[in-house]
Amino acid sequence: MAVMSKAEWNRRRRRKKKIRKYSILAGMAIILVLLLLLIIKLISWIFSGTDDGLVEKVGDYKVTQKLLTVNEWTRPGTKLDKVTQIIVHSTGEPNVNAVNRRDQYEAMKDTHTSTDTPESMHFIVGTDGTIVQCIPINEAAFASKRFNECGISVEFCNTDAEGAMSKATYESLVSLVAYLCDEFNLTPGKDAILRHSDVTGRMCPLFFATNADSWTQFLDDVAKELKGKDYTLSNPIIRNSAVNGGN
Ligand SMILES: [Zn+2]
Repeated sequence: MAVMSKAEWNRRRRRKKKIRKYSILAGMAIILVLLLLLIIKLISWIFSGTDDGLVEKVGDYKVTQKLLTVNEWTRPGTKLDKVTQIIVHSTGEPNVNAVNRRDQYEAMKDTHTSTDTPESMHFIVGTDGTIVQCIPINEAAFASKRFNECGISVEFCNTDAEGAMSKATYESLVSLVAYLCDEFNLTPGKDAILRHSDVTGRMCPLFFATNADSWTQFLDDVAKELKGKDYTLSNPIIRNSAVNGGN
């Protein structure tokens, strides 16, 4: 083995030093990136609880909670002691975004006129199947007349003037109503699940009000969905009463 010259030895030492320096720098860069990712994750986690976050999954679809302000037009803030009915509505106006629909309800406290009647929904099912929760399920909404004190109101966004809905909306609606039947120990069927039209004669939801067979099919699909399902909630916020004022 040849003896290493002093110059060669110095060169190797400098190279080793250089490598060590770059290794430290690379390590620091990685730590910095990880820290940054952690901060971003933390920020999104903090905001997810208050604004647009996943609250719960019902079937394959997520529920986002965007509670209305307690007010006499859309969220009376009264407690629901017993739920015996689920009332199904549709928006009527085609292709309304679920969040926009919720915002329309929220605006009613300021924009109502003397001819308006209080109206609101616990849940709105969007055209992509995502669900927006406006009112906790242990609080009253203006579901439909005599069912305000014992009903959960669910509205779906229809896609055309005949009131039809997308496949995702249908599936999500089936899951949501099945979950509600489970939550309140209701037997899926014509007594527990009502169309708005069953209560007031108003053609709402237009599609089901004018297609009796589709309504029967829907009730069957809910019963089928419920069979053998366990809807244990991972996040009880869906039930939270915000008679304290909500957010
Ligand atoms: Zn209706």
